[in-house]
Amino acid sequence: MGFYSRIYDIVAVISALVGGACIGSFINAAAMRTVAERKWWGRERSACDSCGTLLRPADLLPVVSFVILRGRCRYCGASIRPRHLAAEVVCAALTAALAARWGVSAALAVSLAVSWFSLFNSLTDIENGYIYDMWALALGAAGLAMRLAGGWPAVREGILGALLGFGVIAVIILVSRGGMGWGDAVLMCGIGGAVGWKYCIFSLYAGFLAGGLVVLPLMLANKLKRKDAIPLGPFLAVGSVITLFLGNELIFRFRSLLGAYPGWPWGN
Ligand SMILES: [Zn+2]
Repeated sequence: MGFYSRIYDIVAVISALVGGACIGSFINAAAMRTVAERKWWGRERSACDSCGTLLRPADLLPVVSFVILRGRCRYCGASIRPRHLAAEVVCAALTAALAARWGVSAALAVSLAVSWFSLFNSLTDIENGYIYDMWALALGAAGLAMRLAGGWPAVREGILGALLGFGVIAVIILVSRGGMGWGDAVLMCGIGGAVGWKYCIFSLYAGFLAGGLVVLPLMLANKLKRKDAIPLGPFLAVGSVITLFLGNELIFRFRSLLGAYPGWPWGN
C-alpha cells in the first residue's frame, strides 16, 4: 500500500468520523424537538437544556465542546445530558465503520440511511416510548427510492422486506397482546423496505437476540417486571445495524435456503 493511498485512507476515516459526529448531533436535536413537538429549523435555536441560554457555535461542536466544557454548561454549570455525547459518538463510530465496511458504494448509502434513521427512531423510543410512523416510513421510502437504481428485482426485494418486517411484528402483537407496539411493526416495515427481505430476517433475529440478552437477565434479577414497558425499537435498530456488517456472511452460510450469494443491497 503506497504512501498516498494511506493518507487517502486516513483522510477518509477522519472525514467519516467528523461528518458522522455532526450528523449525530443533528439527529439528536431533531429527535428531541420531535418529542417536544417543536420545529427542527426556522427560528428554533439550540439552547442549554437547564438554563435555556442560547448556545453559540463554539458550544455546539460535536464531541469537542462536551470534552472542552467537561460536560457542563458554560453559562449555568449544569451537567450536559450524556445523550448528546452518546448520539454523537455512536453516529461517528457507525458512520466510519460502515464506510470502512462498504467503501463508496450503493451499499454504503443504504447502510447510512438505515443506521441514521434507526438512531433517530431509537432516540424518540427511548425518550417517550414512541416511534413516529412518519420517520419510520421515511426510511422505507428512502430505501425503496434508492432501490430504483437496482431495477425491479431490487425494488421487489425491498417491498418483500417491508411486508416481512411489518408482518412478523404484527403477528407477535396479535398473538402476545402487548409486549410489542405498532410502532415496532412500522419501524421494521421501514428497515425491511431499505435492507430487503433477506437482511430483514437477520435484522429481526439479531434484534430479538439483543433484546433477550438485555431483558432476560433484568427480569431474572427482578429489576424488571413482565408488565413494564421496555422500548424495543432500539433493539430492532441494533439488530439491523449488526446485519449491515454481517448480513452477507450470514446469507452465504444459509445459501441453500436463501439462494445464490446476492450482491447486497440490490439482491439478484
Ligand atoms: Zn445552562
